[in-house]
Amino acid sequence: MDRKGILFVLSGPSGAGKGTVLKEVLQRVNGLAVSVSVTTRSPRPGEIDGVHYHFRTKDEFKQMVKNNEFLEHVSKFQNYYGTPKAHVEKLLNDGMDVILEIETKGAAKVRRANPDAVYIFITPSNYEELTRRLSCRGTESPEVCELRLKIAKTEYKSIKYYDYIAINDNLEECVNTVLSIIHAERNKRIRNQKLAENLIQLK
Ligand code: 5GP
Repeated sequence: MDRKGILFVLSGPSGAGKGTVLKEVLQRVNGLAVSVSVTTRSPRPGEIDGVHYHFRTKDEFKQMVKNNEFLEHVSKFQNYYGTPKAHVEKLLNDGMDVILEIETKGAAKVRRANPDAVYIFITPSNYEELTRRLSCRGTESPEVCELRLKIAKTEYKSIKYYDYIAINDNLEECVNTVLSIIHAERNKRIRNQKLAENLIQLK
C-alpha cells in the first residue's frame, strides 16, 4: 500500500443510528477499521470490553490523558470518552482507512489536527423523528432522554463543519450514502497522486 489511510469521522446526535449504520458499513467495505474508544461509562447489556469500548475507571482514564495517549477526549454525560492515538496512527500508517464514531466536540479537536480527514454527519431528516427514536429507545431514563435531545440541538450547530450529511431515515439508503462517500474519497486524485504522476509521465 503506497498511500496513508484516510481518516473518516462520523458524528450525529444520539438516536441518529450511527452505530447501526457503522456496523453495516464495516461489513460491506474492505480496508476500513473502526477505532475502539476508551470510556469511563458502564457497559450496557451486550457490550464487550475491547469490542464496543475499552471500559476504564476515571483514574485509569486520567492517567491515559496525562500520558498523552488520546487523539482527542471529551467529557460527556458525566463520563469521559477518548480516541486512543497510537492505534489509529498505526492503522493509518499501514495504509488502512480508519473511522471514528465520536461526538462533535471531539470531532472539532480531530479536525484541527487532521484537516485532511473526512467528516460525515448522520441525522434523521427532521427533529421530530429524532425525538421519536430517542423516546422509543427504552435504554435510558426520561431525564437522560431529555438531556440527549438538548445535546442534539447543540450538536446540530456543528453541522457546518462537516463535509457530508448522511440522512438516516432508511438504514439501507444511509449505509449506501456512507459507502458512496468512502468510495469517492478513496478515488480522489489527490489521494492517488503517485498513480496520477506515473500516468502524466507516460511518453
Ligand atoms: P454512548 O455512551 O451512547 O456509547 O456514546 C455517547 C456519545 O459519545 C456518542 O455520541 C458517541 O459518538 C460519543 N463517543 C464515543 N466514543 C467517543 C470518543 O472516543 N470521543 C468522543 N469525542 N466521543 C465519543
